[in-house]
Amino acid sequence: MGAPQSIEQSEPPLAPRAQGFRAKREYTMRIAMIGTGYVGLVTGTCFADLGHEVICVDNDAGKVERLRNGEIPIFEPGLEDMVKHNVRSKRLSFTTSYADAVPDCEAVFIAVGTPTKETDGSADLGAVYAVAKEIAKHLKGYTVVVDKSTVPVGTGAEVDAIIRAANPNAQFDVASNPEFLREGSAIDDFMKPDRVVVGLEGERPKQVMQALYRPITLHETPMIYTSRATAELTKYAANAFLATKVTFINEIADICERVGADVQDVSRGIGLDSRIGPKFLQAGAGFGGSCFPKDTLALTGTARKVGAPTLIVEAVMEANNERKRRMAKKIIAACGGDIKGKTLGILGVTFKPNTDDMRDAPSLDIIPLLQEAGANVRAYDPEGMEEARKYLDDIEWVKDAYSVMLDADALLVLTEWNEFRVLDFARIKSLLKKPLIIDLRNIYSLSEVATAGFVYHSVGRDIVLGDI
Ligand code: NAD
Repeated sequence: MGAPQSIEQSEPPLAPRAQGFRAKREYTMRIAMIGTGYVGLVTGTCFADLGHEVICVDNDAGKVERLRNGEIPIFEPGLEDMVKHNVRSKRLSFTTSYADAVPDCEAVFIAVGTPTKETDGSADLGAVYAVAKEIAKHLKGYTVVVDKSTVPVGTGAEVDAIIRAANPNAQFDVASNPEFLREGSAIDDFMKPDRVVVGLEGERPKQVMQALYRPITLHETPMIYTSRATAELTKYAANAFLATKVTFINEIADICERVGADVQDVSRGIGLDSRIGPKFLQAGAGFGGSCFPKDTLALTGTARKVGAPTLIVEAVMEANNERKRRMAKKIIAACGGDIKGKTLGILGVTFKPNTDDMRDAPSLDIIPLLQEAGANVRAYDPEGMEEARKYLDDIEWVKDAYSVMLDADALLVLTEWNEFRVLDFARIKSLLKKPLIIDLRNIYSLSEVATAGFVYHSVGRDIVLGDI
């Protein structure tokens, strides 16, 4: 049986130039990437690494200046070297000027933020539309305007209308190309994606997108071509599903704690079922980050607006909010029911390891609840402290993991950075006032902490070792 028509795994057709495009070499193209945040900087750099000429635009002049000086404004493993290499190779550059970047590009990507609107929880598309207006002024020759930001259905059509109104003579198409990379493994996710989803109409933009992604699709990555609306919705559906998976296993963890079961074995037991799959089944402190919270909220809003409410996703959001309150209660209970005046040493504040991103991190809910209950908080995060200072008050930030423990009443693990997995238990014990660890990421083995003589609370593993 052949593959569905819209999924292409075979080698894409040759030569945009043969189709009348202005590519400099057979497969390389000139691209502008508007927005150099977590997505724009990573995807722009990766496209450059694949051989394209990429000009990244950002309206944050300070950020552009730092990038020009070789300073990477975010933490993402492997990114700094890749940026430097491609800048040296003259395939990657940075500017604040649309006029320098947009004319004569085969593709202009929109990769600006789409945060939650305070007023109604929908996606704030202000930056996307502002970028569309700017792009319109500078289009020269046929260009595909590609939306990589996560946007609600209909945004691509609106971007199309904005550009058409501002520049009626422009030759362009608008495509939707949602990004599925994860912070912390963003380069690998971009270079070896499970699939590339592209929403567009017509052959001409398709040829451009095929040529752009050709180095990736040569490795048999499926390209899924669909309508713009479908591509836009696919991104929200993916994030809502993953958020549901995380929330589901967190609820199973709560049951495990009450019935004496082990959630990690349950995860393995269900995850090895190929219909379920093992990923996103680690019980923890609740999901956070720059995508799941805002995208579930935007999806449920859209769904209600079109008269097709997603009751499952609404429940997921509520359960996840409740989870963070529950985690604070769990910590207080583990500390004997009262944390007034106690010092809690916290390892990790970012929403996940290998990023400095603090957007919607569970720590932003959990730590203030602990402070409200009277605790003094001391914390360390390998990469997130500079960002975290902007969001969290009254924390004593320290320079390494062991420094959070000195005379602390308990040690809390909120983010599973690898360096926390290999800490020396004897040293931890000698530093803490009481040998109490509350691990919301299950990074330690029960037998090891037992041998080391800790009172240990984790998630979904009923066994509370020791007694304080
Ligand atoms: P970000 O906030 O890190 O970066 C956005 C960048 O756009 C900033 O550098 C900002 O200065 C710049 N910008 C804003 N307005 C601009 C304008 N008018 N002209 C030029 N630059 C402008 O955001 P992000 O995390 O990279 O996310 C971007 C989009 O990608 C969002 O829609 C997000 O939902 C989506 N996404 C994010 C991730 C992720 O892991 N962060 C993954 C997949 C998809």
